[in-house]
Amino acid sequence: MTPFKAPLEDILFSLRLVAQADEEWDETTATDILGHFSAFAENALAPLNATGDREGAQLIDGRVQMPKGFKEAYKQLIEDGWQGLSAPEEFGGAGVSRLIAAGVSEIFSGANHAMQMVCNLVPGAITTLRLFGTAEQQARWIPKLASGECLSTMCLTEPAAGSDLSAIKCRAEQAGESWVINGEKIFISGGDQNLSKDILHLVLARSGGPGIKGLSLFLCPAQPEVTITRIESKLGLHASPTCQMLFSDAGAELVGEEGAGLLAMFKLMNHARIDVALQGVAHASNAAYQSYHYACDRKQGRGPDGQTARLSDHADVQRMLDEQKILAIGARAMCHIALKESMKGQRPALVEILTSLCKVTGSEAGIRAADLGIQIMGGYGYLTEYGVDQIWRDARITAIYEGANGIHERTIVTRGLQSGTGAEDFADLMNELADGDSIIKEGTDRWLGVVQQLRSAKDPTSQAHNFCNLTRELFQQATWVRIAAVADHHPDTDELKRFCKSVLTPDKLS
Ligand SMILES: Cc1cc2nc3c(=O)[nH]c(=O)nc-3n(C[C@H](O)[C@H](O)[C@H](O)COP(=O)(O)OP(=O)(O)OC[C@H]3O[C@@H](n4cnc5c(N)ncnc54)[C@H](O)[C@@H]3O)c2cc1C
Repeated sequence: MTPFKAPLEDILFSLRLVAQADEEWDETTATDILGHFSAFAENALAPLNATGDREGAQLIDGRVQMPKGFKEAYKQLIEDGWQGLSAPEEFGGAGVSRLIAAGVSEIFSGANHAMQMVCNLVPGAITTLRLFGTAEQQARWIPKLASGECLSTMCLTEPAAGSDLSAIKCRAEQAGESWVINGEKIFISGGDQNLSKDILHLVLARSGGPGIKGLSLFLCPAQPEVTITRIESKLGLHASPTCQMLFSDAGAELVGEEGAGLLAMFKLMNHARIDVALQGVAHASNAAYQSYHYACDRKQGRGPDGQTARLSDHADVQRMLDEQKILAIGARAMCHIALKESMKGQRPALVEILTSLCKVTGSEAGIRAADLGIQIMGGYGYLTEYGVDQIWRDARITAIYEGANGIHERTIVTRGLQSGTGAEDFADLMNELADGDSIIKEGTDRWLGVVQQLRSAKDPTSQAHNFCNLTRELFQQATWVRIAAVADHHPDTDELKRFCKSVLTPDKLS
C-alpha cells in the first residue's frame, strides 16, 4: 500500500482558481493551514486507517472503545486546534473560512474517513446552535465543541424511520422547565466514543402530533439515561461506531421552536451533505493516487514496441487512471463552487439544488473511482493488502446516508424545480462558469426546456434519475470549461489539459 498523500495542490488550485474564492481568500493562510493539516493527516491520521479497519470500534460494558491510537490522535487534533477551525472566534474558534475548512475536511476523510465521521459533525452542530439555540445554550456548548472537549451526534434514524423522518416515534415530553426523551435511535455515528470528555446529542423527537410538524429538535447531553444497546457490524467504516441508542427519561432542552425541528435539522444536514460529497471526493482522489503508484510499479505484458510494459503503459489502464482523476477533480470543483455559492447567501434555492447535485456526484465519484482502482490492481486490488478494498467499502455508504441518492434526485425535480427560481439561477450559474461558451449556452437552453416540461408533468419523480443525470452532466461540463480556462496555473498543466479535452467533447450535452 502506498502511504496516503494529501492532494494539497489540487485542493488549493480548485478553491482559488476554479471556485474563484477571491473575496474571502488569503493564499498564505490557506496554504499554511492546509499544509499543516496535510502533514498531520499523513503522519498521524492515515496510519490508523487500516489498523482501525481491522480492529474496529467495540462495545465493552456499555461503552464504546475506539481502536488503538485513535485517542492519542484525537488529543493531538484538539491540542492543535483543528476542531475549532471554522468555529467563531468569539466562542474560542479560529473563525477560518468554510472553504479552507472544506479542504481540511476532504484531507481528513481521505486519511481516515471513520475518524472524520466521529469528529466532523461538530461544525454543523455549531451552525445549528448559532441559528436556533438561545444565547445561553450557545455560550454553554459552542466553546466546548470548538475546543474538542465535546463531540456531537445527529440522532434522526429509527428502525421504522429511515429515509422518511415523518415516521419518527421517539417522544419528547415537557417536565417542568425542561424536557425528557424516551425512545430508540439507530445507526447513530459516534453515539458513544472514548475520544472526547463529553458528547452532545442533537435529537429529533416527537413533541407534538403526527407528521413532520410534530417534530422538534433537542439538545441532549450524554448521561446515564442515554445508553448504547449495540454497535453495528458493517461493510466498511469499522472504526466508526454506528450506535443503537436508548433514551430512557433522558433530560433534554428544546432548540429553536417547538414543531420546527426538521427545519433546524436540515441546517445540520445540509452542512453534512457537502461534507459527505467531499468524503466521496477524498475517496476518489485517494483511489486515483493508490492506483497510479501501483500501475506505474507493476510490470505486466508487453507494449506495442514489444518491450516489457508496466500496467500504466496499457491504454485501457491509462483510461481508467484518467477517469479516476477526472472524477476527483470534477466533483471537488463542483463542491467548492457550491460552497462558495452557499457562502454568498444570495441564491438559496440554487444552493439547495447544488447541495443535492454535489451529494450525488461526490458519492458516486468515490465509489466508481474505488471500483476502478480494484480493476486496475487486478487480483491484488481484490485482496485486503493494498487497501483499495477499504476505500471501496468505506466509500459505499456515502450514496446512502445524508439522504439516499435517489431521494436527492427526487428532491431536485420536486422542491428544486417547483419552488422559487432555483432552476433559473442554476442556468445563470452555468453560463457564469462557462463564460460565454456556446456549447454550454445551448446545453443550458435545452436544459431549461426540459425543466418547463417537468414543471407541468403530472409525476416528475419518474424522471428524477434521468433529469438529475442530465443536470449533473451540464454542471460538470460547465465546471470543466472553467477548469480549462485556468488550467495553465495548475502544477501539472499538460495532464489537466488532456483531461479537459477528454471531458469537453461537443456531443455530450446534445
Ligand atoms: C454507517 C452509517 C452511519 C449512519 N449515521 C447516521 C447518523 O449519524 N445519524 C442518523 O440519524 N442516521 C445515520 N445513519 C442512517 C442513514 O441516514 C439511513 O440509513 C438512511 O437515511 C436510509 O434509511 P434506511 O437505512 O432506513 O433505508 P430506507 O429508508 O429503508 O431506504 C432504502 C432505500 O430505498 C430508497 N428510498 C427510500 N425512500 C425513498 C424515496 N422517498 N424516494 C426514493 N428512494 C427512496 C433509497 O434507495 C434507499 O437507499 C447511518 C447509517 C449508516 C449505515
